[in-house]
Amino acid sequence: MYKAKAYSAASATSPLTRTTITRREPTEQDVQIEILFCGICHSDLHAARNEWSEFMSTTYPIVPGHEIVGRVTKVGSAVTKFKPGDLAAVGCLVDSDGTCPECRAGFENFCPNLTLTFGTPDKHFLGGVTYGGYSESVVVDQRFVLRILSNLNLAGAAPLLCAGITTYSPMRRWEVGKDKKVGVVGLGGLGHMGVKFARAFGAHVVVFTTSPKKKEDALRLGAHEVVVSRDANEMQKHAGSFDFILDAVSADHDINAYLNLLGRDGNLTIVGAPPKPLGVAAFALIMRNRNFSGSNIGGIRETQEMLDFCGQHNITADVEVIPIQKINEAYERLLKSDVKYRFSIDMASLKSE
Ligand code: NAP
Ligand code: ZN
Repeated sequence: MYKAKAYSAASATSPLTRTTITRREPTEQDVQIEILFCGICHSDLHAARNEWSEFMSTTYPIVPGHEIVGRVTKVGSAVTKFKPGDLAAVGCLVDSDGTCPECRAGFENFCPNLTLTFGTPDKHFLGGVTYGGYSESVVVDQRFVLRILSNLNLAGAAPLLCAGITTYSPMRRWEVGKDKKVGVVGLGGLGHMGVKFARAFGAHVVVFTTSPKKKEDALRLGAHEVVVSRDANEMQKHAGSFDFILDAVSADHDINAYLNLLGRDGNLTIVGAPPKPLGVAAFALIMRNRNFSGSNIGGIRETQEMLDFCGQHNITADVEVIPIQKINEAYERLLKSDVKYRFSIDMASLKSE
């Protein structure tokens, strides 16, 4: 065991503050990574403030962070995939049983014995939970450590590990591509990655935003059209016309307004995770045989496929790099939809603290 610097919250109402955590020394299958950058996902905030208490209650102290990019410092004797000095990345998952049907099908994210990067009982520390990426290092089983191509900007690559895979996966599943009209709702961390992928897959992309000032950015990021969703007339122009819509909104909103924009057999996939239930009108679905789906991050194989795709097409998140000392301010800005378009923590700021 060794000590590592980290930032944690002690309760749902406490700010994140500097702490010291215990990490395990790498066992046979483990990779130890010095964390260089960690993205800030809105899920970090939902969890830190226990907003999902009905579904997954938070254990405190919590060290959030599941968009991790770093350099390998040590490997266990059985590790073949990595050696010290390699670039490495870790997303939302750090362990699973590897034997259940979900794991065998490449969906470790649905394994009943899944260990999330933060907040899940830690098999290596009885009574403790896993601690995430707001830390100077992490130790992870090699099966859950991913490769990133070295041409990518590392601060911008970190958010691919959650925002990237969460938007890539449903777009692949629903065959977003050429001749498809695709909507992305909410231009935040997930949404802006959704725009980049939909564009890279060849779709016609329309962004729905509540923030008129994001219009120009949306076009720069790859959208063909931008709709300010508070304008009912603008919304009405697109009624019944979409093949696929990705909803990446973090707060309560009117889902029927978007279901009504789908064409026949169209699909709306929700990836945003607002704590309160959304009221779905049966008629919004019945009309035009519409589909309403959800999607949860992605398995390890698909995450690696996404990272390779990003490496080949030079896709990264647009990030605002911050020192970890600004983490609480960053959370407040996230709540105001004031981020362009992902915060990425430069972990050198923690080392020097
Ligand atoms: P984010 O960066 O804060 O972006 C959320 C965006 O939603 C905002 O930028 C804003 O876009 C829009 N929005 C915020 N409040 C709104 C409101 N009251 N009404 C309408 N629109 C609003 O968050 P994120 O990190 O992308 O995460 C988005 C959601 O996905 C979170 O709930 C997160 O927990 C969830 N998530 C799910 C998965 C999964 O596996 N399914 C994975 C990661 C995250 P505009 O300014 O453009 O309107
Ligand atoms: Zn996330």
